[in-house]
Amino acid sequence: MAENEQPNRVAWDFLGQVAIVTGANRGIGETIARRLAALSAEVHVFDVEKGDLGDQFENVHCHAVDVTDAASIAAVLEGVDPLPTFLVNNAGITRDRTIAKMSDEEWQAVIDVNLTGAFNMIRAAAPLMAEVGGGSIVNITSINGIRGKFGQANYSAAKAGMIGLTKTAAREFGAKGVNVNAVAPGMVMTEMAEKLPQEILDKALGETVTKWLAEPDDIANAVLFLLSDAARAVTGQVLQVDCGQYL
Ligand code: NDP
Repeated sequence: MAENEQPNRVAWDFLGQVAIVTGANRGIGETIARRLAALSAEVHVFDVEKGDLGDQFENVHCHAVDVTDAASIAAVLEGVDPLPTFLVNNAGITRDRTIAKMSDEEWQAVIDVNLTGAFNMIRAAAPLMAEVGGGSIVNITSINGIRGKFGQANYSAAKAGMIGLTKTAAREFGAKGVNVNAVAPGMVMTEMAEKLPQEILDKALGETVTKWLAEPDDIANAVLFLLSDAARAVTGQVLQVDCGQYL
């Protein structure tokens, strides 16, 4: 085996699939969009600003969409042709503060983007997937939505809500051929994580059983699996990709 070759690497082929990835101008979402594009999917990036990933891939199309704005989602989806078969709800923000000090705005903004944004996208896109005979949705939640996290009441509540949303959507759209799952990352070094104090990053690393932290590609690998036909019997599940950070 060549030195840089990864063992047992699965090469998915997504030719003919049409994917929407939210919040994909950077971080984990960008990695997922790049991987899908490299595997021949037609990829639509929905982010607050119109991104430039389309300059690098002719099969990537960037749109300015705020996922909290249902009307904007509907308007842009009208131009997505062929209709979507994959949706990755990745857009997310943090506004960390302890409960006693958290403002209404900090609470609401995080619920709006992480939870209502995912709901808006599923409500608009899942019926279109059903129309073309099926599809697959992956919601990016967090281990902090499962275990709770000091200073993240808004984020933990939103991410826990996404798990309920995942399971309900799986039940409602399953018979229409749409699988809905969630991926729960632990700490991943992106701009979101770089805002955190060093002691929090050190603590996260200490919590892992691997003693290293996952990278955006590790999250993308799980997402690609759940989107693929290999996961056709998997729905309503939450896959932790966290180096054992929350066991
Ligand atoms: P980043 O902050 O690096 O990227 C998030 C992207 O989402 C940005 O491009 C951002 O745009 C976009 N976005 C924010 N608000 C909206 C909105 N209203 N509509 C559309 N797009 C929006 O985050 P990460 O890559 O680190 O995280 C991606 C996902 O993974 C998030 O859901 C996050 O909660 C989750 N996650 C991340 C972990 C980590 O350690 N990094 C751990 C666990 C979960 P803009 O540039 O305008 O802000």
